[in-house]
Amino acid sequence: MTPHEPDQTVRDKSMHRRIGLFGGTFDPPHLGHLVVADQVRSEMGLDECWLVVANDPWQKSGTRNVTQAATRLALVRAALGDPALDGSVGGLHASDVELEEDGPSYTIDTLATLQARHENVEWFVVVGQDAASRLDTWDRADELKKVANFVVVNRPGSPAGSGAGMSDGWHIEHVVVPPLDISSTDLRARFAAGRSVRFLVPDAVIDLVDELGIYRPQS
Ligand code: ATP
Ligand code: MG
Repeated sequence: MTPHEPDQTVRDKSMHRRIGLFGGTFDPPHLGHLVVADQVRSEMGLDECWLVVANDPWQKSGTRNVTQAATRLALVRAALGDPALDGSVGGLHASDVELEEDGPSYTIDTLATLQARHENVEWFVVVGQDAASRLDTWDRADELKKVANFVVVNRPGSPAGSGAGMSDGWHIEHVVVPPLDISSTDLRARFAAGRSVRFLVPDAVIDLVDELGIYRPQS
């Protein structure tokens, strides 16, 4: 167990637990992310849903400047209202597992790491519909589709319906969440232009963004 993962030692070791892994760049995290994590946890009766911060989002780096991983992790913790920086908040937890190693991390390796570290846990990889439609481009997709359970949620602007844009063979469940048309791309533009992001992003995230001076236009 790493220092920042919820302490499971007090629980019965034989207890079967179900945990969602909701990966993202979270640059910045927003209400859309939080609603997905919480709704999936609740609708699927998961014990927890972890927001897994991507270290180097390899499909994004190169196309734009991605904020430092440690900063994005701090933003996710702030979003969860977790100033103590440990443990879970209401069943949601910020995971730094992908920040332990340099370079890009791949879901198939993250799953293997967590499976080795936590016994008796059933893992569910949570993705929005836009990410789901690109699953076949993920690293070692053929292997991943055999070993991972996916939960796909609707996202405004992305084609709904099972299997849209995906090859056969993925293990998928769908959870319908209240649609929130919020994206980090739009929020970065709003921050840069000095437009309001209130009620789209938790206040604690707005405060931390201001404090760190990120997303300001490059002068
Ligand atoms: P960006 O615009 O920078 O790509 P984003 O808002 O898409 O940011 P990501 O960190 O790329 O956020 O997304 C992480 C995960 O969250 C993906 O699976 C994505 O589909 C999902 N997601 C993000 N925003 C929403 C939303 N508003 N509704 C449903 N799913 C979402
Ligand atoms: Mg995205």
